[in-house]
Amino acid sequence: MSDAIVIVGSGLAGYGVARELRKLNSEIPILMLSLDHGGFYSKPMLSNALSTGKTPESLLSGDASRMASQMNISIRPFTRVVTIEQVGQIVILEDGEKIRYHHLVLAIGADQIHLPLSGNATDKIMTINNLDDYKIFRTELTGKQRISIIGAGLIGCEFANDLASAGYHVDVIDISAQPLGRLLPPAAGEFMRQKLGLAGVTFHLNASTQTVDQTQSGFCITFSDGKSLKTDLILSSIGLRPRIQLPASSGIAVNRGIVVNRLLQTQSPHIYAIGDCAEVDGKVLPFVMPITHAARALAATLNGHPTPVQYPAMPVLVKTPACPTVVSPPDFSVHGEWRIERDTEGIKALYQNDAGDILGFALLGVATKEKNSLTPQLPPILK
Ligand SMILES: Cc1cc2nc3c(=O)[nH]c(=O)nc-3n(C[C@H](O)[C@H](O)[C@H](O)COP(=O)(O)OP(=O)(O)OC[C@H]3O[C@@H](n4cnc5c(N)ncnc54)[C@H](O)[C@@H]3O)c2cc1C
Repeated sequence: MSDAIVIVGSGLAGYGVARELRKLNSEIPILMLSLDHGGFYSKPMLSNALSTGKTPESLLSGDASRMASQMNISIRPFTRVVTIEQVGQIVILEDGEKIRYHHLVLAIGADQIHLPLSGNATDKIMTINNLDDYKIFRTELTGKQRISIIGAGLIGCEFANDLASAGYHVDVIDISAQPLGRLLPPAAGEFMRQKLGLAGVTFHLNASTQTVDQTQSGFCITFSDGKSLKTDLILSSIGLRPRIQLPASSGIAVNRGIVVNRLLQTQSPHIYAIGDCAEVDGKVLPFVMPITHAARALAATLNGHPTPVQYPAMPVLVKTPACPTVVSPPDFSVHGEWRIERDTEGIKALYQNDAGDILGFALLGVATKEKNSLTPQLPPILK
């Protein structure tokens, strides 16, 4: 298969490219290599699986062999790529096997960031970034009551809402003064805190976690001010870092992510990157909509029609039903100010420049209904 398109990774990005390419070309050989089981699932559904009645098993829409036959591609699960030889256009697997590619697509995702904590139970802190992690988490939940989440970002808040709605006692800890600090102005963060609070989530803000120790009945989290919290299970959700070790050690340019241009192409003409691992024209956007746009453009390029990716404004729906929220974070390097309208039912926060142009928004509660009218007013992310 020396003319094959080799895709490394079977997440939404890997499958997205394969699917789009198949729509354009039913013949071209596609080989997907994946470190994990290689089956298809929608990762965003992990953080609301309890309230939507999903189990890890029912989240999997198709295993590797079913997906391979459905899409007429080859999939090799449990296969780690350890080196890329740019000159020979070869990837080398963990067991030394060499596979030649015509074009290589890196869709290798991102790693969870781990806090440097002390204590005797730091290795018991869980993270969820894939279906296998989630499977372990659901098993560990059995018989537990008090769940602590370190990190009040998008994913931390979604898991908090989901667990609270399933009857768990949820504590959320964050070093900043509000939830979703990178996405919401303070007033909106406070609104979110109140609404999730009413749903049973307790926030510990301005709290710097220092130590995690095992106790007889569970764990004890100690903060830098000496206060502590007893809990049965700890989930850390403090952010993601694009996986760049493989490309970097193979001589492919990396920065925050794998550096690619608008064609999703690295400096090596036959190697592309997409999804959470990629830094596209300077932007790392670890969300589904950028993958959808990039997969379409990359498939056209791989099919012989070089197509630069364009990103319109892509608001993100935060899956916190206790506080419906949609955000389109502005580019904060562009001068602007939050203008906020609030009442008890919602918050409408518009980030506007001096001329009154809307550069981003955060809509909470009833204000989410304005998403469709406001989105067309936003500037595109990549024109
Ligand atoms: C809980 C949760 C909820 C989310 N909710 C939302 C949401 O509501 N909306 C939204 O827009 N985004 C959401 N996101 C983000 C979104 O899910 C991700 O942006 C997207 O799934 C990333 O897909 P990916 O294919 O780039 O990476 P991944 O899904 O991480 O896939 C990476 C793949 O690469 C493979 N791999 C890695 N290294 C190697 C190697 N060396 N050799 C072979 N294979 C390798 C892995 O096994 C894996 O198959 C959420 C994320 C999480 C964790």
